[in-house]
Amino acid sequence: MHRRHLFGLLGPGLAAVASAADENDSVASNQATADALDEDLAGAILTIDLAAIQENWRRLRAAAAGAECGAAVKANAYGLGMMPVARALFDAGCRTFFVARPREGERLRSRLSDATIYVLDGFFAGEPGHFEMHRLRPALISLEEARGWAAFCRKIGRRLPCALHVDTGINRLGFDLDEFARLTDDEATMADLPVALLMSHLACSDESGHPMNSRQLAAFEQVRARLPRVPASLANSSGIFLGEDFTMDLVRPGLALYGGHPGHGETNPMRPVVRLKGVVMQVRTVAAGETVGYGATWQASRASRVALLGAGYKDGIPRRFSSEPGRPSAEVAVDGLRCPVVGRISMDMMAVDVTEVPVGRVRQGTRMEIVGDTITLEEAASRAGTISYELLARLGSRFARAYTGAATGG
Ligand SMILES: *Cc1c(COP(=O)(O)O)cnc(C)c1O
Repeated sequence: MHRRHLFGLLGPGLAAVASAADENDSVASNQATADALDEDLAGAILTIDLAAIQENWRRLRAAAAGAECGAAVKANAYGLGMMPVARALFDAGCRTFFVARPREGERLRSRLSDATIYVLDGFFAGEPGHFEMHRLRPALISLEEARGWAAFCRKIGRRLPCALHVDTGINRLGFDLDEFARLTDDEATMADLPVALLMSHLACSDESGHPMNSRQLAAFEQVRARLPRVPASLANSSGIFLGEDFTMDLVRPGLALYGGHPGHGETNPMRPVVRLKGVVMQVRTVAAGETVGYGATWQASRASRVALLGAGYKDGIPRRFSSEPGRPSAEVAVDGLRCPVVGRISMDMMAVDVTEVPVGRVRQGTRMEIVGDTITLEEAASRAGTISYELLARLGSRFARAYTGAATGG
C-alpha cells in the first residue's frame, strides 16, 4: 500500500527515498525504502534532484574553461545529504571533494574510496593518523601545521599530499602572506611537504565589480609565483563566473551545484535542485476580524480560508517567514498561484491564506510549494532575511526526503 502510494506520488523519476537519518545507502540500493520514509506521515517533503546536481556540475565545469571542477560537500552537502550527493557527483565525473571537518572526510571516504578529499578546517594537531588512515588531505593553514605535517610524513616515511591554504584578504583560515613566505624559505620543511594544491578563498566573489576580487587575485598570483609547479585553486561558485583569471587549475563550487544563484546576472544559470513542499493538515475558515496564530499578529480583513502546513521553525522554516505589517509576506504556491504566509511561524506548522485559490483545490493532504519552481530558493531566502546558503543548511531533519533523478550504482 505504502509503496504504491509513494511511486504514485513521485513518478518514474524516483531513484531512491530515505529519511534524513538513513541517507547513507539510499541511492546505492536504487530501491524505495518506503519504511524509512513515512511520507504519508510527514508534514513536509524535501525532494533533491540528483540529476540536476550532476547537470549543474557539468555546467560549472564548462564555465570553468578547462579547470578541473571539484565540489564542496561540507556541512552534509549544504543540508542535502553528503552521501547521495557526493556519489552522484562522483558518477558525473567529479573527483575532488572538499569537506570542513575530519569526521566529514571519514564518512565521505567510506562512500568514495577513489576520490581525493580535502579537509578545509586544517590539520588538527594530534590527529595525523586519522588523516592517514582515511587518506584525507589537510588544507594546512599555518607554519606550525605545515611543520607538523612534514614531521609526520618524515616519521612514517610516506609523502602524504596536502594543500596549503593561504589567506589573501578574507581573514578566515589560512597562512598570511609573510608566514607563507617563511614556509617556502624553510627548505627543510618544504623538502618533506608534498604540496598537491595551493588554495585561497574569495571574500566578495558574488559582486563582480568588487575591488577585493582583483586585490585577492593579485595577492594569490604572488603566492603562486613562489610554488609555480603546484596546481592552484581560488574560485568558489561565484568565483567561476569572474572569468578565466580566477578559475586556474581547480574550482571549488558548493552552492551553485545545489541550485543556488552564483550571484552574477539576472537569471540563475543553474538548474533548481531542491523542492520543499508542505503538507496541508487542515483548512479552516476564518471570519473577518479574527486572528491567526501566536500573538494574534495577523487579522483577517475579510472572510478567509487558511491552510495549516506541517512545517515550522523546527524544520528550518525561518521565523522571519512570519507575516508582519509593513513588510511583504513570504509566500507559498500551489499550481503556480502564490499564497501569503499569515501570522507567525510556529514550531511545527505555518499558516497560509488560500482564499484566492479555487475552493476544493487545497484540502487536507495537498502539498504546497515552499521552495521550488514558483518560489525560488533565492526568493525564499530573501523573504526570510537570509541567504540561500543558510536556508539550505538549516533544512530540518524531520522532512521526508526523496532523492530523484540519478540512477547511481553502488
Ligand atoms: C564553502 C567553501 C567553498 C564553496 O563555496 P560556494 O560559495 O558555496 O561555492 C569553496 N571554498 C572554500 C574554502 C569553502 O569554505
